[in-house]
Amino acid sequence: MKNQAPTDPEMLGRICRELLSRQRILITSHVRPDGDSIGSQLAMAHALVALGKTVRIVNRDPAPPALQSFPGVGRIEIADRVEGAVDAVVVMECGDLSRTGLSGLDRLFIVNIDHHPGNAAFGAVNWFDGTAAACGEMVFEVIEALEVPLSHEIAVHIYVAILTDTGSFHYSSISPRTFEICRRTLEAGVDPVAVARAVFDSNTVGRLKLSGAILNTLETDPSGRLAIVYVDRETARATGGTYEDTEGLINVPLTVREIQAVVFFKEWEDGAFRVSMRSKGRIDVRRVARLFGGGGHKNASGCTVPGPYGEARRQVIPRLLEAISDPPGDAAGRENALAEPAGP
Ligand code: AMP
Ligand code: MN
Repeated sequence: MKNQAPTDPEMLGRICRELLSRQRILITSHVRPDGDSIGSQLAMAHALVALGKTVRIVNRDPAPPALQSFPGVGRIEIADRVEGAVDAVVVMECGDLSRTGLSGLDRLFIVNIDHHPGNAAFGAVNWFDGTAAACGEMVFEVIEALEVPLSHEIAVHIYVAILTDTGSFHYSSISPRTFEICRRTLEAGVDPVAVARAVFDSNTVGRLKLSGAILNTLETDPSGRLAIVYVDRETARATGGTYEDTEGLINVPLTVREIQAVVFFKEWEDGAFRVSMRSKGRIDVRRVARLFGGGGHKNASGCTVPGPYGEARRQVIPRLLEAISDPPGDAAGRENALAEPAGP
């Protein structure tokens, strides 16, 4: 029995026809894949294998360490170029093709599935749904439309995608559909406690020390609403942690009531800085990421800016302070989570 009306039945029908009529299907997602990209890809892969398809997943970068133990992660190929015979490529979570970090895709038949606003519709088929809290929600609908039973493995991957992309159910992208899909995954046997432990409680001493060192760099702006954290390679090396270990740490400052947004500067290649941003409620950090050629979502986005660090700060911080003082629809930038939602 279907418990939820599909969001776009026509598009789902089209995607099903294109996938069912092709045999060798390659799946990919963005560089430095996160829980949503890994979960969405593996759920899709398991479903297509169940349909007898020949499936490969190719990613430019490995899955984060905490996800390495999930079923199928070991079969993901790491490469920067796609080779071999392929009948269709499913690209998920990518605003444009360059986000994959792979070459050799442009000549192929592409099915583009994404929930990031600003998707460039680069595929032969393009399904964009900005209301999906995770790409995993969209994959769930594709799998349902394909009439593949929700196996335990598929359900785990969908749940991981949603759990991680909602910041453990903290972001405003959550909808009734989010919980409906999670409910279905639990019915299929997902143990949310085991998944949360595997995803979030996989610390090493190095990671803990690195987290401490990073949180020690925390500063706030004079209003106390913006938190700024920083890491460089030397700190990661000295603590015995890695940059992958810093995944999720950016959310910690948001647990402080007054802090409305966080920016995390990571020293990157060629003296540049990877900038991750998170915010609460109506504050739109994607607007800031876009100014620097990045993207993401209203409450979680990223970009890369040139160094040195002082210059990177001078570029980004004033833009974030503007976003905090001027959120759309609410000059105060505050949100009462317990208030009645605004009418349509
Ligand atoms: P991160 O801070 O790297 O965890 O990224 C947060 C969100 O922003 C994710 O949805 C990313 O896919 C997106 N994002 C990060 N960097 C970029 C970028 N350079 N271009 C487009 N989207 C990005
Ligand atoms: Mn996502």
